Amino acid sequence: MPKHYGNIMNLNDALALINTSVSNRNAYHLEPLDVPVKLNQNENPFDWPRSIKEEVGKFCMERPWNRYPHFIPEQLKKMLGEYVGVSGDAIIAGNGSNEMLLVLLLALAKKEEPVILCQPTFTVYRLLAEGIGSGSETVYLDDQFQFAIEAIGKASEKLPRSPLILCTPNNPTGTALSEQELRTILEKHNGFVIADQAYIEFGGFNAIPLIKDYPNLIVTRTFSKAFAGAGLRMGYMAGSEAVIREINKIKLPYNINFFSEHVARTALEHRAELAEGISLLIQERDAMQEFLATLPVTAYPSAANFIMIRTKQKQELFDALVADGILIRDVSSYPKLENCLRISIGTPEENGMLKASMRKFFNQ
Ligand code: PMP
Repeated sequence: MPKHYGNIMNLNDALALINTSVSNRNAYHLEPLDVPVKLNQNENPFDWPRSIKEEVGKFCMERPWNRYPHFIPEQLKKMLGEYVGVSGDAIIAGNGSNEMLLVLLLALAKKEEPVILCQPTFTVYRLLAEGIGSGSETVYLDDQFQFAIEAIGKASEKLPRSPLILCTPNNPTGTALSEQELRTILEKHNGFVIADQAYIEFGGFNAIPLIKDYPNLIVTRTFSKAFAGAGLRMGYMAGSEAVIREINKIKLPYNINFFSEHVARTALEHRAELAEGISLLIQERDAMQEFLATLPVTAYPSAANFIMIRTKQKQELFDALVADGILIRDVSSYPKLENCLRISIGTPEENGMLKASMRKFFNQ
């Protein structure tokens, strides 16, 4: 029996009331190491120009803060629809693609139908699936971290109604599905297929045109990567209009604040200005790939704005880079990723510093 002191509950009794799916977890956490060169979160290293920020700042000064944002951000949805080639009614926008993933699992996941995940992949999927109580079923990527299409097919046979999440390009491996592979999966799977395309602007097959052929396909996207908006918290999903109408019922009202909504619209209006930065990052990624091939590490091909490497000297390399003021991401605790590190592509200067530091480490 819980011990009560008058009406005040004992702290341990309160903690014991928290769902074990939550209390049994290790906290999702990133060590906030303070170094000048941050290549650990797959952000776009190029910030928006000051003139655009000032334009948004002016809007925020004039817009009343005591009033709620739009109930439905129609204009933003329309602009997002135009950007990806669907109608505004086929879009839900939200607080980062993480929120979109939560909304999708709230709408689609069921206790008896674990979410199928292709591991190693973005850790938030498992966090959400476990939090919601459905848990997850793992299909491993193959030894080169390509999607194991046959194994995915077997999981579809075993769990035909489960949501299946495909991260393409995949974080942290950089691997992407081809159109044919995606169609093969969609033709076999009878549950919903969520394609997380957070990195699509950097490479890989764009899944959105397939939505018209497959009503069980939903694609999530973000402003945090190519759109240089990680601080905004803006993401969206696209799917068939009728499916989106249903999923919208479980989204929290007013999930996007007026600031983020306005910045997202401004970013979309100015998106031509992003293109140059994106192609520079793609060039830098390819040059980094060539550079890494000259070092005694295994570097995996990537369609995203990061590259995963494997080296037996994982910890020593990580520490040597930190000593030189460069932070990359240790992903060695992910399934199958022993000795792996993930390097985000930075500005040419940052990439130059990383290369110099790695050359020094490997005496090259
Ligand atoms: N999906 C993938 C594959 C990611 O890597 C990330 C961010 N690291 C997200 C979703 C979440 O992005 P957001 O900032 O839009 O919540």
